[in-house]
This record gives sequence, structure tokens and C-alpha cells, in this order.
Amino acid sequence: MPEDHQNSKFAPASERKTRYEFNKLQKRLRRLVGKAIADYNMIEDGDKVMVCLSGGKDSYGMLDILLSLQKSAPIDFELVAVNMDQKQPGYPEHVLPEYLDGLGIEYHIVEKDTYSVVKSVIPEGKTTCGLCSRLRRGTLYGFAEEIGATKIALGHHKDDAIETLFLNMFYAGRLKAMPPKLLSDDKRNIVIRPLFNCSEKDLLAFAEARQFPIIPCNLCGSQENLQRQMIKQMLQGWEQQFPGRIDTIFGALGRVSLSQLADSDLFDFINLTLDRSTPLEPVKAESSAASDTTEVEIVNAINIA
Ligand code: SF4
Repeated sequence: MPEDHQNSKFAPASERKTRYEFNKLQKRLRRLVGKAIADYNMIEDGDKVMVCLSGGKDSYGMLDILLSLQKSAPIDFELVAVNMDQKQPGYPEHVLPEYLDGLGIEYHIVEKDTYSVVKSVIPEGKTTCGLCSRLRRGTLYGFAEEIGATKIALGHHKDDAIETLFLNMFYAGRLKAMPPKLLSDDKRNIVIRPLFNCSEKDLLAFAEARQFPIIPCNLCGSQENLQRQMIKQMLQGWEQQFPGRIDTIFGALGRVSLSQLADSDLFDFINLTLDRSTPLEPVKAESSAASDTTEVEIVNAINIA
């Protein structure tokens, strides 16, 4: 919803309802972004945050919410918007500069023809997104150093993190997702994902309401990443059948029991030793821990017994 439509007292009921729903959505997104920033110490006093704008719904939403949080934050930090023009044919170069000029914030457009590199390396018909994203990330990391940015903000959200978890399990045999905060391998940059707690559904609704001038990401002619699409459909199917399942899986990302997995690099299985020095605790009839016991734990306990 454009800001100039938000304040009329005499608007028709349908418009007031739309405004009410929009305000609720905006508050929810602000709260979830604020929580992610606080929980993972994403932004600190004096930070210069480079906000990466692709022209997609998520990065527009991220910039919008960060700008509004900046106004009420108890700390001082800078926001600099950066877009990378990868020279895809038909890329509408004017769209982001016009939008960012309207906001009156500092921004940079980094021009680099990664499109030609990707096209020359990846055979026709294969998905190009993997290499394209790696080249983009490399350029953005370098640019962040050039402008003295202390954090790089990317617009990935909760659904991206969960999809990545399943992609890694299904196709790479690894248990890893997409973290809310990441130190680059060379330790020269810190990436943050302020939308980590936000759902794609909310971001889509927010982008529609705010009428962001979306630039499609398929100008390069790349096929959508079919594996990711398949995972997305699988998750949506589960969610329809078992409402709340996506949130349950998302919660699991923050509650990891290393001793219940099998990675010897992360948990020392080799040197497990008995310790019977403390007296055995009597079994309580009504344990306060019972409410923390999940169905899965109960089933496991029965199986073990
Ligand atoms: S759709 Fe095209 S521009 Fe977007 S990430 Fe994939 S290859 Fe890159």
C-alpha cells in the first residue's frame, strides 16, 4: 500500500479493512526482522549495512523494513542499497535508480557482465543460477570492502532456509541449511539475513501492497531451479496436510542435538565415558519436564525400551 493512501479516516470500509490488514502485516514483518536482528546480533552500533537489492520482492521488502526500523532503533547504523546489473538482455536499468532516488538514500549500481560468463560456461538447457549466484556473491563481497560496509544484508527468508535444508539433504547428503548470519570463508565479510524469520507468503503480500517495481529474475532465460521447485511443492503439500509443519521444521534449525546425530567432528563419540559418581535420581511420578517431551521422544523411548 503506497504511504499516501494510509491515513484517510473517511475511506470506505473495504479500504479501511485493507489498510488494517496491511498495518498488521507490516507490524509482523517489523517484529520478526527486529527479533532476528536482536537474536543473532546482526546489526551493531556504527555498522554500515550494504543492503543487496536484486529487484525481487524479498529484497525490496528487506530494504523497506530496515529503513523503517532504522528510524526507531536505539543504535545508529547506516544503510546503503547496492544492486548488481549483471547485463542480462532486457534488464530495465532505470527501474532501481528511479525507485532509490525516490527514497533519497545512498545507493550504488555495480555493473558486471556475469551473464556472458555464465552463458559461455554452462551448457544450453542447464540451470545457470548456481554459478550466477556465486559470481554475484564474489563481486558483492569485493564491493562491500570497497565502500567500507561492515555487514552485507541478503533478502533470504524462512522458506529459503528450509528449502536449502532439504536440497542439501536430498542432493548433497549434508545436514545444513542457510544461516541467519555468516562469516565468509576468508573472514573478510559478514553476511546477515534480516528476513530469516519471515515467510515468503508475507513478503509476497507486502510487495503487492507496497507496489514495489519488481524486476523478474529470469531475464537471463534460465529455467527455474527445478530441484528447489520440487522441494517447495513438497513443503507446501505437507503444510496443507499438516498445518504448522513448516514452522516446526524451521524451529528445529535452532534446536540441534549434536549427540543425537552422527558427526564425529562435532561430537566426541570416541571418548564417551561412564560417570556413576552422582546418586541415581528417583523417578518422579509427575515430572515438570513432561511438557517438554515430544511425541517423537516418547516413541523413541518406547522403541529403545
Ligand atoms: S534466474 Fe538468471 S539472473 Fe536469476 S539467479 Fe538464475 S541465472 Fe542468475
